[in-house]
Amino acid sequence: MAEDALFRARNLTKHFKITQGFFQKLKMEEKQVVRAVDGIDFDIQWKRNFSVVGESGCGKTTVGKLIMRLLEPTDGKMYMKDKDITQLSSKSELKAYRRQTQIIYQDPFSSLDPRHRVRTILEEPLQIHGLGDSREERTDMVMEALEEVRLTPPEKFLRRYPHMLSGGQKQRVSLARAMILSPDFIVADEPVSMLDVSVRAEVLNLMKDLIDEEDVTYFYITHDISTTRFFTDYIGVMYLGDMVEKGKVGDVLDNPSHPYTQALLVAVPEADPERVRGTKEVPISGEIPSGTNIPSGCRFHPRCPHAEEICSKKEPESRRVEKEHTAKCHFAGEIDFDLDVAK
Ligand code: SF4
Repeated sequence: MAEDALFRARNLTKHFKITQGFFQKLKMEEKQVVRAVDGIDFDIQWKRNFSVVGESGCGKTTVGKLIMRLLEPTDGKMYMKDKDITQLSSKSELKAYRRQTQIIYQDPFSSLDPRHRVRTILEEPLQIHGLGDSREERTDMVMEALEEVRLTPPEKFLRRYPHMLSGGQKQRVSLARAMILSPDFIVADEPVSMLDVSVRAEVLNLMKDLIDEEDVTYFYITHDISTTRFFTDYIGVMYLGDMVEKGKVGDVLDNPSHPYTQALLVAVPEADPERVRGTKEVPISGEIPSGTNIPSGCRFHPRCPHAEEICSKKEPESRRVEKEHTAKCHFAGEIDFDLDVAK
């Protein structure tokens, strides 16, 4: 257990039962279960951002919703500053937790109410949590939040509606709405993926500046592994509901020890045109299997270019590759991956 862990997840699990149709009920068929998150562990330390990466459907957004307590875990525990947050049940406990833990959504175009001005959007969380004794005091707090996200002068933005803002400005308002409650922890679910490439770096830079300015830590959900080195300290790679590799971001990206991480890295466009990396396609065959039908043994074996007989029979345990760097592969640390395999 990390001594200064801000957040810990142990055996975190979320299974969804699929609703049966009339004929399935008639045939007394067993209910199918989607194993969206399948018993994962991770620690997040103070001001050490943690990114979770993987293809669509790997379970990363479900993990974000579990952290926010927007979904109830099927099993497992989550701790915030050593407090068991899976036990929070009263409205007041959950409200206090949600002040401390905020979320930024992928789509700033739909996460801001188009009928409200920026001032109202930012004032709402203050009213919900009973902050600011008067309208004037709340207005000062709103202006301060706008300045924090570099929307200056703030007076210029107070009366604007979301449609009067650019995509980058909208996401800054979303960030201000989260920051106005002075949270310790922010779940950022693909916060820049819907923005123009030209403003993505600006928004990520701003979020990074706020780590020290506002003492905040991010759980960064992304399908773009190339942004994780810049923005985060630790990384977890998810495949089909499991965290198959995790560790310090430099260790994992420089020495990927699970074939799936290798495949994600090969898909990253390479700045140097002489190099062959950068297919933009994950270079592994087949589709990600259904969460209702997880393959036996290693769940990655039907797509793995290194699979051997044991892989379909025995589930790999987490193997330590380096200090704090582990991978769930029978051969982790033994296979010398070549990142230039995509020809
Ligand atoms: Fe591939 Fe086998 Fe390792 Fe799974 S255990 S990732 S199938 S080599």
